[in-house]
This record gives sequence, structure tokens and C-alpha cells, in this order.
Amino acid sequence: MKKPRLSISIAPPGIRLQLTLSYTIVSALLMLLFGIIFYLSTENLLASSFDTTLRLRSQQVAEGVMIRDGKIRVEDIVRELPELDSPVAIMDTTGNIYNFPTSAKDLDQHTAPSASSGNVLVQVLDLQGQVLYRTSPFKRLKVPEDSIASPMHGTPWYGTVQDINDQPIRLYSTMLVDEGRTVGIVQVGQSLARLNVTLQNILLALLVLTPFILALCGLGSYWLAGRAFIPIHRLTRTAREVGAKDLHRRVPVPVARDEVRDLSIIFNEMIGRLERSFAQQRRFVADASHELRTPVTVIRNMTEVTLAQPGTREDYQEVLREINAESERLGRLISDLLAIARTDEGQVKLDVEPVRLDLLAIDVVESLEPLASERDIVLRIDKLTPALMLGDAARLIQIIMNLVDNALNYTNPGGVVTISVETCATHVHLSVRDTGIGIAQKDIEHIFERFYRADLARSKSVGGSGLGLAILDWAVRAHHGVVTVESEQKKGSVFTVTLPLAPAD
Ligand code: ADP
Repeated sequence: MKKPRLSISIAPPGIRLQLTLSYTIVSALLMLLFGIIFYLSTENLLASSFDTTLRLRSQQVAEGVMIRDGKIRVEDIVRELPELDSPVAIMDTTGNIYNFPTSAKDLDQHTAPSASSGNVLVQVLDLQGQVLYRTSPFKRLKVPEDSIASPMHGTPWYGTVQDINDQPIRLYSTMLVDEGRTVGIVQVGQSLARLNVTLQNILLALLVLTPFILALCGLGSYWLAGRAFIPIHRLTRTAREVGAKDLHRRVPVPVARDEVRDLSIIFNEMIGRLERSFAQQRRFVADASHELRTPVTVIRNMTEVTLAQPGTREDYQEVLREINAESERLGRLISDLLAIARTDEGQVKLDVEPVRLDLLAIDVVESLEPLASERDIVLRIDKLTPALMLGDAARLIQIIMNLVDNALNYTNPGGVVTISVETCATHVHLSVRDTGIGIAQKDIEHIFERFYRADLARSKSVGGSGLGLAILDWAVRAHHGVVTVESEQKKGSVFTVTLPLAPAD
């Protein structure tokens, strides 16, 4: 036995959640980018201001160095340096170590050498690399050869070195110049520990703040997305409430020119189209039932009357003839209704082939000639130009037949019906002209509507139920053509069908 397979389907998150996620991801990427740029530029800025401080300090040190007769005398160098609040020990050219006071008062009472030197990292060398002056913390530095060689060749040197505890120290090494001549080297250093701590603090602040800001971004975008969907919810609610019976309702159109406004307008247009099509459908059903009921009522009345009072054989034959005529009318009506229903559903397919419209016109005239003479109407062809087109022969015959049939129906005995087929560069014009009752101006715009019959036509016993021209109009449009009417009451009408000719090749 087969086991039923379990499948779990995970629905994708809604648009609101998707928007929130996208916003948050974009915010996270932006924050990462911002964080990196901010951190790197801060590091750069601090490092360069650090180097500037070192350069300034080296200048101050240089100013404190006395050069007499080309000989360097190193005395009170670090006394004037900022951030110095502790006495510093120095070693002079003779190798003696002196402890220099940092205030004028202390200076006055020149004190004895001491090992204490604070954090000042200063060293002065002569051109032979001999140490002329060095604060005691400087001794703890691992000074690279380059830092001495480079200024000796005239290029100041920057670098990060380590002290004996492997603490990073920034070192600046430059030339000591007297009257344009390099006479020695000044080296100034400062611990990078404070800078590193500052950078670490910045990094920590970024790392701690980022999740909070991202959470706020997420909540904010969830709230905003929710607000953006309010008009859509309103639209959905109204759309749900609109049923077949209240198609006159419309959704409110927002004033702001945005997507929701477009959606509302399109939605209202759609309801409008639905409303019109429902109304048309209702009218069609009502008209169709009315038209169908008439012949049925006539037949029932005749049969009831005949059954009630028995008559002669001729009477029965007469009644049967009338029933036959009514059934024929009914049959025509039903096939027209079927044709309309099929065109509405788009079921009708044209059997397109090359057709000579002029020859079809001749066929129709020949087949309706007997009817015309029966009604004492002259049916003739006026102009006939060979016209090759692509179309469905059966439908085209139906079109011509319909027009000629109408012309014969609405023309009094003694009248004339003329057919002409003429071509221009791209189109063929088929005209059916009659000298009949004509159509009133107010009716012309309606005659292609379903079941529409002008009052004058109703008064005549001939004619159908007002579906002929509606079907004809559909058939002409299916052939990419148009049908036009010119008419004057009591003078006659001209129906012209314009269709595209077959392409030259
Ligand atoms: P019907 O079955 O009534 O002929 P049609 O759809 O063929 O239906 O025509 C619709 C109406 O158009 C007719 O009822 C009539 O009022 C008017 N009509 C059509 N052709 C002519 C014509 N040649 N002369 C006058 N009226 C016409």
C-alpha cells in the first residue's frame, strides 16, 4: 500500500513583511558602509593629527637645542613642551644626566639629576649617530636603523615602533638644521595607547548602537508599510462589498496622485464596464424573451381559436400556413440569437481565404432577384470593379445578403435597389443604395444595436427582430472593416461597407 506523502508548503511572507525585511537589509548594509567609512576616516584623522603633534613637538625640541660654533649643546629641551608636568631626566654630550625642572621656579633652583622622566620620548643624535640627549623612557624603545639613516639622507621618517613591553609607539625622526646645514637628528615619540583606546571605544559604540538602530529601522518600516497599505485595505473592503446588485458603487479615489489613485480609477472603470455589460446583458435577455414570446403567443392563440371552433379544411390549411410562417420567424430569431451568443463568447472563427467580393455581390443579386421582382422592385448592379480580398466567403455573403434584404424590405413597390463594388488603393467599398422609407436621424445611431427597430420599420410587416445589423456590424469588424449609413427619410438609404483589399503580393 502506498503511503500518503506529506508535504509542507511554506507561504512566502506578505508584502508588508517583505518590505520591512528589504528596508532593514538595506539599512544594515548602509550602516555597515557608514560604520566602515566613519571608522576608517576617524582613524586616519586621528593618526594624521597625531603625526602633526609629533612634528610640532620635534620643532619645539629643535628650538631648545643650542648650537654654538657648530657644536650642539643640549640643555633645557623639554621644559617648554606641552603636557609635561613631571621633571625629565636628560643626558648631555658629556654623558652626565640632569634632571630638568618644568617650571620657572624649579628652573631657578636647578635640581640634581633624577631618573624620573614622565612619558616624554625625545632623543637628539649627532651626525655620527652619537646620542646627545635622551629622555629615560626613550631608552625603552626599539628604534629601527631606518629612523636614523633616513633623516641623515635628508628625509624625515615616520613609523610605529614598539617599546620593550611591546606597546605601540609612534616615532618621528627629523633633521636638526643650523644655517641650512644638517647638524643632527631629533627623534620624538608618543605612545599610541590612548589613540588605540579611543578607536576601540568608537568601534564598541558602533557595534552596540547598530543593532538598536537596526531594530528601530525595522519597526519604523513595518509601521510605515502598514500605513502605506491603509488605502489598499480600504479598496479591498469596498471591492469585496461590491456585488452584482450594487455595481453602481464606486471606491473613493484619493486626492494624492499616486499608485493607489491609479488603482482606484482603474478599478472604478472596471466596475463601470461590468455595470454596462450587466445592463446590456439584462436588456438583451429581456428583449430576446419578448421577441421569442411574440410568435409563440401568436401560434398559441391561433391554435386555441381553431380548436375552439372547428372549421373547414381550407381554414385549417390557412392556420397551418400561418403557424409555419411564425415558426420560420421563430427559427430565424433563434439562429440570430445563437449567432450573437457565439460572437459574444468569441467562439466564431473566420474561415479566411482569398475572395472576389464583386463576384459574391453578383451571386447575391442573382439569388434575390426573384424576391425583388415579386415585390416590384428593381434590383441592379451599378458599378462593379474586381476586388480581391481576404475573408470568410460565407460571412461576406451574409453581409451583402443582409444589406440587400433590408433594402428590399424597406423599399416600396416601384423602388430601385442598386449595388456597387468599387476599389481604391487599399480598400474595397461595397454600397447598397435604395429609394425606400429612409431612416430618421435619431434612429441612425441606434440601428446597429441589438433588437433596435425604427418606428417606421415596425409599422411594416416585413423585417426581422432588429438583430440583423448587429450581426452584420460584428462580421464587418471581424474583417477589419467599417460600415457607414447615409439616409434621408422617404428618400432612401445608402449602406457602405469598407473592407481592406488583399495585399498586392
Ligand atoms: P430588422 O430585422 O428590423 O431589419 P436590422 O438589424 O436588419 O433589423 O435593422 C435594424 C433597423 O434598421 C431596422 O428595423 C430599420 O429600422 C433600419 N433599417 C435597416 N436597413 C434599412 C433600410 N435599408 N432602410 C430603412 N431602414 C433600415
